[in-house]
Amino acid sequence: MSIITDEQNNFKKVDINIKSPMIKPEVNESDMTFENSIRPKSFDSYIGQTALKETLKITIEAAKKREQPLDHLLFYGPPGLGKTTLAGVIAQQMGVEIKITSAPALERPRDIIGILMSLQGGEILFIDEIHRLNKIAEEILYPAMEDFFLDMTTGKSQTVKTIRLPIPKFTLIGATTKAGALSGPLRDRFGIIHRLEFYTEAELSQVVKRTAGILNIEIDEEGAHAIARRSRGTPRIANRLVKRVADFALVKADGKITKNIANDALDTLKIDNCGLDTTDRNLLMLIIEKFNGGPVGIETLAAALGEDVRTLEDVCEPYLLQAGLLQRTPRGRQITPYALEHLGIKNSNISFQGNLF
Ligand code: ADP
Repeated sequence: MSIITDEQNNFKKVDINIKSPMIKPEVNESDMTFENSIRPKSFDSYIGQTALKETLKITIEAAKKREQPLDHLLFYGPPGLGKTTLAGVIAQQMGVEIKITSAPALERPRDIIGILMSLQGGEILFIDEIHRLNKIAEEILYPAMEDFFLDMTTGKSQTVKTIRLPIPKFTLIGATTKAGALSGPLRDRFGIIHRLEFYTEAELSQVVKRTAGILNIEIDEEGAHAIARRSRGTPRIANRLVKRVADFALVKADGKITKNIANDALDTLKIDNCGLDTTDRNLLMLIIEKFNGGPVGIETLAAALGEDVRTLEDVCEPYLLQAGLLQRTPRGRQITPYALEHLGIKNSNISFQGNLF
């Protein structure tokens, strides 16, 4: 791969750090400020993902002993499970800076080149939504990841020259909600690939208490558990619910979050005891009522709901699948008997015979 450079192509140094806004479909700027204020900075405050943390600690220790940067790492899993946070923790543990960006922000060759050239030795480059990198950006990354070089072409037609430009050794941490959408060559260049798991209720309870503590919100054990239970296994959601429930507690009670306050607030927000919100329930009801339980294609569902396919695939579906409410089959999405039970539908004529349960 080569890149044609010309006078207009000034490879400006891009200064991105953990405080700069990231481009993420489901996170707006005020969410970002809130998230950064409560983001764990060390392994001790990073709750859950125990096996992954243990593996990473060893990898980090080994890299430090060898005085080498870490191997490139890929984290995958649904949004809000702590991929970005973990990248920050790793940087802290390695004692290096982290630069954070996301694939949609790297549209032009100069965007990725600028960032790569701005890196200092040992630094971490975090690319969110890495499955959305375009082909050109990917091909610029290959030699950078493998040999720490940028292949550049200068001049025009007959005078064209290729130069290999060395860049400092760095670690790329990629995050994706869709590991399967990554091209094979890019995936192969990551030395370490890890999946982040949904969190247990006990872990989310800890997340809730930690966040409440940082925000000076009074909460009891049962109140924390009530929020954790409806947080879809996801710390980002748990944190957002803490804020919403705290507002409710302040207006309707004395400000303290108890089990009753949490349950009342979450009922008001239409988040059910499985953590499903209106979109999730609409999705399941649509499959039940209009498609006789499925199977039905995701595009059809997205069109009928007026939702983006990506939102359904990346945000709604992973939890519905994990909770056993939805099933993915080769012919499309299908609801499960448990979904009928959860939604209180007793007399449906949906037949599950021959389905893959
Ligand atoms: P992702 O990059 O996977 O979408 P983030 O790393 O941005 O998720 O995490 C979203 C929010 O959830 C962060 O603000 C962070 O405070 C919180 N969070 C994520 N993982 C953890 C964890 N293991 N312990 C405590 N809080 C967490």
